[in-house]
Amino acid sequence: MGMKKVSVLGTLVDPVDMQGTLEKVEEYIKEGTPHHIITLNAEIIYRAQHEPALKDIINSAHLVTPDGAGVVWAAGKLGTPVPERVTGIDLVQAILPTAAIKGWRIFLYGAAPGVAEEAARKMVEEYPGIQIAGTSHGYLDAQGQKGLLSSIQKTKPDILLVALGAPKQEYWIREHMDQLKVPVLIGIGGTLDVLAGKAKRAPEAFQRLKLEWLYRLLKEPRRAGRMLALPKFALLVLKESLKK
Ligand code: UDP
Repeated sequence: MGMKKVSVLGTLVDPVDMQGTLEKVEEYIKEGTPHHIITLNAEIIYRAQHEPALKDIINSAHLVTPDGAGVVWAAGKLGTPVPERVTGIDLVQAILPTAAIKGWRIFLYGAAPGVAEEAARKMVEEYPGIQIAGTSHGYLDAQGQKGLLSSIQKTKPDILLVALGAPKQEYWIREHMDQLKVPVLIGIGGTLDVLAGKAKRAPEAFQRLKLEWLYRLLKEPRRAGRMLALPKFALLVLKESLKK
């Protein structure tokens, strides 16, 4: 059985590491019923403070991993530490080799036209034998949505990676997971852009110093508004930790 969830400002996070997360993925695929995995970052925890529908989705997801240094820091500060960061991109990169060996079939949905196909091509290049059930871009109209749903139902993937950005992808997954009957559904943000080589991940040094957020801010200054959530998040955590 899993370890008890940890509350970070009322959103529940599983104290899992990458290995534990991979074991869950395998277990969910064996079970066969739909399971929603969220990689939860500080921005979304902050947003959930005033978005009850989002908090509900997070708190009823099957697995919620600590995505980012902010969440790991907060959990520690609140006296309920989690082992390590499990980000969307790291999780996808950990799943791929296992998928190639076990024959898990993966469907890629999201990002601009052409990106999911390019990411799929790179995956097959790196892990020959990996099975891509299908791909779709993330800007479909109502008609396209219908087509996507039926193509997912027809191709029966084991894992559906949804790259619409958070929290759009979390709402989308929750709305459709029951009818899709895919065992594992994961929101992966901008991961397809990185895998396709359209966006660069922060250099190792930034990652090691836990400054990926700073790198993204420098590369994409339009993120500044959203990133204001980070200091506000930190302040809420400090307040909460003083109460304890
Ligand atoms: N995206 C999409 N459909 C939309 C909105 C966004 O497919 O309607 C894609 C976008 O092209 C990008 C990803 O979702 O590939 C969002 O990436 P971002 O790095 O902003 O994700 P976040 O960090 O916000 O989760």
